[in-house]
Amino acid sequence: MSKPVLTIVVPCYNEEEVLPETITQLNKILKDMIQEGLITDNSTLLFVDDGSRDRTWSLIEQFHLANPCVTGLKLAKNAGHQNALLAGLMKAKAYSDCVVSIDADLQDDVQAIREFVIKFHEGYDIVYGVRQSRTTDTFFKRATAEGFYKLMIKMGVNIHNNHADFRLMSKRTLEELERFKEVNLFLRGIVPLLGFPSTKVHYDRKERFAGESKYPLKKMLGFAFDGITSFSITPIRFVTLMGFLLFVVSIGAAIYAIVGKLTGANVTGWTSLVLSVWFIGGVQLLALGLIGEYIGKIYKEVKQRPLFIIEKEVLAAANTNKAPL
Ligand code: UDP
Ligand code: MG
Repeated sequence: MSKPVLTIVVPCYNEEEVLPETITQLNKILKDMIQEGLITDNSTLLFVDDGSRDRTWSLIEQFHLANPCVTGLKLAKNAGHQNALLAGLMKAKAYSDCVVSIDADLQDDVQAIREFVIKFHEGYDIVYGVRQSRTTDTFFKRATAEGFYKLMIKMGVNIHNNHADFRLMSKRTLEELERFKEVNLFLRGIVPLLGFPSTKVHYDRKERFAGESKYPLKKMLGFAFDGITSFSITPIRFVTLMGFLLFVVSIGAAIYAIVGKLTGANVTGWTSLVLSVWFIGGVQLLALGLIGEYIGKIYKEVKQRPLFIIEKEVLAAANTNKAPL
């Protein structure tokens, strides 16, 4: 196989603290792979500034001036990790044979990228980076992440355990990905739906190099909930099942009350009445909320608003015209 053009896409949100180190490490692995003849010498790094409020963009521009391998996209406003990543993938697709996505915080092992590319040479279209150990994550993060993957799989969502968004995708898989016009983007769930020959590479997950996680608990829970409701209607089925169970229970209660009345036993009732009213009221609100969540999703999908807006870009001269803004 001839050498592929590789682009490494890195979404960045307020990452001024890690960016210089990230750029240095990614640039090194890129240069090493060019030397080893694994990729072409016009392969690049593409940093997507997701509407950062710190010096992230000016750093990208500075590094670009010194080293044209470093290229960047600036989104007009914060679009979120998944959308920023998509912006980078769609841009890079125009001029790359394969694209690797990686977070800016160096938690993922940059050396694994070489193995991704070797797998690409072997003919795989998608290579998933799978975390072997998460010993450096806090117990809480590990427990919640584990619970999340288990729950997703239980709900019938086809995702790879312990795989985040560190992966390689070939040009043709990205072209197919473009046809998924979902506004509620959850790439980890969509990519396995594409099919194509795929494989996994295991690596050790490290601690964030610097700065703090952009996924605090609230955002993480929102992300998990979004992931589930975007891919599975199991929660609604569960509501239906709960409705059915309550119906069965209420028939039992009715029989109990009628028999009690006929046999003259006194059916007292204030507590049971109030409790059942509250209980059923709660269940109904929960069900309504859940259904509302799905309707909200449909509402967003129907509007088909753009997922990201690109404000400016600094690309390699040869690539500028291939993917106009
Ligand atoms: N990120 C982004 N936009 C956001 C939030 C995060 O582009 O609105 C980027 C962030 O800069 C990082 C990646 O997404 O490169 C993953 O975020 P983070 O490392 O904070 O998440 P964690 O690893 O803690 O789950
Ligand atoms: Mg991280």
